[in-house]
Amino acid sequence: MLQTRLIKHCRQCGTAVAYRMPDDDNRERAVCPSCTTVHYENPLNVVGTLPVWGEQVLLCRRAIEPRHGLWTLPAGFMELGETVADGALRETVEEAGAKVELQGLFTLLNVVRVGQVHFFYRARMLDNTLDPGPETLEARLFHEHDIPWDEIAFRTVRATLQHFFDCRRQGNDYPLHVGDIG
Ligand code: ZN
Repeated sequence: MLQTRLIKHCRQCGTAVAYRMPDDDNRERAVCPSCTTVHYENPLNVVGTLPVWGEQVLLCRRAIEPRHGLWTLPAGFMELGETVADGALRETVEEAGAKVELQGLFTLLNVVRVGQVHFFYRARMLDNTLDPGPETLEARLFHEHDIPWDEIAFRTVRATLQHFFDCRRQGNDYPLHVGDIG
C-alpha cells in the first residue's frame, strides 16, 4: 500500500512532529505539536522523454543510486515553476545532453506504492550528438533488438519502451497509454 514519507521534524520550527488525524481531516498527517503546522505529503511527478533517432531510442546508464549502472530513459522529479513538458525537456538536456523536440505525451503511469506519477513524452532528436551530465555514466542509442531488457532501471521505463515498440510495430500511431505500476 501507500508508502508514507515519514516526516520527522516540523519544517517551520524544527520540533519533532507527531502523526495524527487533524479534526477536519480523514487521514493521519505529520502535525507539529509546537506550532500546529500540518505537513501534507502528496505524490511527486517524475517527468521524462523517450528520445528517438531514426530507428533507435536513447537510453542513459545511471551514475547515481538507486539503480546505479542500470539503463533508464532521461527523467527526474519535476521542479516548482515548470510544466510537465518543461521538466521533461530539462531532464533530457541534463542527463543526456540531447537536443529534442517533444512530440505527444505517451505514457502516464501511476506508481501508487511509492507515491509517484511518471510522465513520458515521445521526443524527436534533432541531431545525434550527446553530452551526458554527472548523473549519467553513458548515453547511447539502441535498436530494439539491442535493448538491455535485463538491465532496465525502472518498471515505468520498461513499460514505456514496450508500449513504444508495440505501437511502432502496429503502425505509426502513438496514443497516450495510462496505466498503474503495482
Ligand atoms: Zn512547528
